Amino acid sequence: MGFIDLYTINGSYSYMNKHLLYLYLFVFAGCTTVKKESLNVFFAGEIVNPTSNYVVLFKNNVVVDSAKLDAKNRFAFELNSVSEGLHHFDHSPELQYIFLEKGDSIMTRLNTMDFDESLVFSGIGSEINNFLLELFLVQEKEEELMYKEVYRLEPQEFHTIIDSLRLLRLAELDVLDKEEILSANSKEIAEASINYTYYNYKELYPFEHGKHAGGKSIHINLPSNFYKYRQNLNYNNSNLSYLRPYYDFMKSHFKNLSYRSCVHNCGGKGNAVMNKLHFNRHKLHLIDSLVKESELKDNLFRNVAIDYLLMAYDTELNNRSFIEDFHELSHNNKHTKEINNLYAGIQNLQPNKKIPNIIVYDGNTDEISLQEIAKDKKTVFYFWSGVNKSHFRKINKRAKYLSLKKPEYTFIGINLDTDETLWKEMVQSAGLDQEKQYKAIDSDKLRQELIINAPIKCIIVEDAVIVDAFSTMYNASL
Ligand SMILES: [Zn+2]
Repeated sequence: MGFIDLYTINGSYSYMNKHLLYLYLFVFAGCTTVKKESLNVFFAGEIVNPTSNYVVLFKNNVVVDSAKLDAKNRFAFELNSVSEGLHHFDHSPELQYIFLEKGDSIMTRLNTMDFDESLVFSGIGSEINNFLLELFLVQEKEEELMYKEVYRLEPQEFHTIIDSLRLLRLAELDVLDKEEILSANSKEIAEASINYTYYNYKELYPFEHGKHAGGKSIHINLPSNFYKYRQNLNYNNSNLSYLRPYYDFMKSHFKNLSYRSCVHNCGGKGNAVMNKLHFNRHKLHLIDSLVKESELKDNLFRNVAIDYLLMAYDTELNNRSFIEDFHELSHNNKHTKEINNLYAGIQNLQPNKKIPNIIVYDGNTDEISLQEIAKDKKTVFYFWSGVNKSHFRKINKRAKYLSLKKPEYTFIGINLDTDETLWKEMVQSAGLDQEKQYKAIDSDKLRQELIINAPIKCIIVEDAVIVDAFSTMYNASL
């Protein structure tokens, strides 16, 4: 798809087909729509190629109900009372938004082999959901183009394109609204999904444009109306707290605001921005001063904490002063336990500490601790899961290559979650050295204590003492 096609507003763009599909859906829905009379909500569907036995329905992060698939892979929810608004349903590992209101009777069918593309809703209340789904699919394609081409453009041109796209989507929503008369709530969700997606691109623009220009133009001059929407921003709309485009926007927005305010107010010719402890504390304080709505605030705080603790690789002392600020600013944050565990985990994985004494299984009869395995030698622990076959092949190929290049290290593979028989088959058929392969016994505990946050993560250990617990199998030091 050509770039011009995508943003031309005169209707000649090449995904006209989608447009036609819309019209078709509208007409179809127009004929069958029945006035919402019932107060109950019925939501049912069929899952082709199911990946688990359940479908779980959530409102925000709270489980509303769960349904077991029947012999024909069908599920049904019948809810007497529903808190209206945005929900999501989870068929592990996939999840999908659904907007529910009293009187809705929605059917869906989806194929897990092609989750988003195969999804379709029908019945009373389906129009807004099909609209949101189409919007998501179109915007997903647009996002690729942003990175490929659009962020490169100069500010005025970028601004014009983003605003045209936003208005185009709003016009499409208007067509639906005229056909269906959407409820105020569902219209708000659809409008926010449109607006915040395009506002997010604007918040990201200085950083992404800067990358293309060798990092220089992050301080680029922007047209005076570039961030005009900020005048009417609502940081405290609880209907939107769990809407992905709104939340993504907020993350970028606070990154941008903190960056600018830090450069202008914190001295050191922009050095304050480079100081990760300072910058992330600055961001916490800014969020604290602007966001009052507790769900959004908790989630944004969590995001800053995870970002800092996992990505900054800062000193123990700095980590501690960050976590003190975090606790001071967020009294009842519902993620506090998670953040505390992460912080404790990071403290335990600092260089010169012994590797946590986690027990793993050797495939025969023995359960053995990581400290025992790493005794008296240089060891690299790496991790894989049977679910992702391509990762399994790549990471073990890499381990083989590295063990030839660095014979002084022993590379130990730890399987996280494969069934024992399958695990052994995989190890054998890939020709791996069985002496160097182990399996987690308590996978969750292992992931949490060793902070397995990336599939290529590895832990470098010498005589059971940590050298680097946050390395990767592609790190130059290996
Ligand atoms: Zn600052």
